[in-house]
Amino acid sequence: MITAIHLGLLVPLLAAGPQFDPGPYIYLDRLSPRVAVAYWPGIDRRCNLTVIQSQKGLVLIDTEASPRVMAPIKRKIEQTLGRRDWAYIINTHAHDNHCSGNALFKNTVILGHENLAADMQWLIRRQTEPDWKRKELERYHAILRDLRAALPRYAAHRLYARLIQSDLIFYDLFVQDLQQGYEVVKPTLTFSDKYTLDLGDLTLEVIFFGKGHSNSDILIYIPQERVLVTGAIAYQPGRVPEIGEDSHLEDVHRFIAVLDRLLADNVKIEHVIPGHSVLLTRAVLPPIRDFYQRMLEEVQAARRQGLTLDQTTRLLTLSAKFPAFREPPPRTDGSLHQERNVKNLWRILAEDQPAPPPAPAQP
Ligand SMILES: [Zn+2]
Repeated sequence: MITAIHLGLLVPLLAAGPQFDPGPYIYLDRLSPRVAVAYWPGIDRRCNLTVIQSQKGLVLIDTEASPRVMAPIKRKIEQTLGRRDWAYIINTHAHDNHCSGNALFKNTVILGHENLAADMQWLIRRQTEPDWKRKELERYHAILRDLRAALPRYAAHRLYARLIQSDLIFYDLFVQDLQQGYEVVKPTLTFSDKYTLDLGDLTLEVIFFGKGHSNSDILIYIPQERVLVTGAIAYQPGRVPEIGEDSHLEDVHRFIAVLDRLLADNVKIEHVIPGHSVLLTRAVLPPIRDFYQRMLEEVQAARRQGLTLDQTTRLLTLSAKFPAFREPPPRTDGSLHQERNVKNLWRILAEDQPAPPPAPAQP
């Protein structure tokens, strides 16, 4: 009976498509009177947007996957807080759901790392290169088809059915933006190492993490609130940290130095707002710092011992050496990250300490 009622409700909702109000699916969780986290949950795509109420206005960290997706979240924030005096937008980096809704805040200062604008270029190419756009549309249409097909099967599981329904509305809006095109708005205020934003009653310390997960990853520390917003650095519990194709030795040293500074006794952190999961605590930071330090030591040692890259990759699995991080199932997001980390760190160390040239041939 419950199933029948539920399905009966779902059909008109889905038929209504994008006109259906996404409001009830969007959450705004208060951390304190001045800090809240907005998110629109789905099966596997939660993205935390941090909202800060300051004397100088509202600040939003990250802007979701597209303007149509961002619009109902913005509306929910404004209605709940009773204000719309947006002062700053901050993008933690240039991946899908961190900066694609910037177009809704064109009269607001948009702050990001100096690499952010170049990193965001892919969002334009995805819309302007026909093959890329077609493949992306096919991919998201397939997701929508799978969700529609799954809905009747899960109708009796109210929570799961609600997540599917939430995903259907989300992806429907996203596909409309991708199909029709949307404006990609780049940062208007950038920095290279560290930037301090004075908001009157609050200070935001915005810190470049180094080239790793992307080329423009930043963290935002709010001392008065003891809050650290980590974007993709503490991505979700147990997710392996990253060393990227563009990372150099100075970046790996920077990862460790930035985390060391944040873990100093005089830095008080109670809440860590990660990019993509429930809120975390300071306890997630030391394993990330130790991961980079140990990786550096282990790969250096392996090279000194004359091991090959393959041997080193087999040696440095997460389960063997880094139990704080979990091995994702094969062929899922992140499943090849550790292999890639070893390969990239191997390349970095080879660049830094090239093998000695072969001895000159005897005459
Ligand atoms: Zn990312």
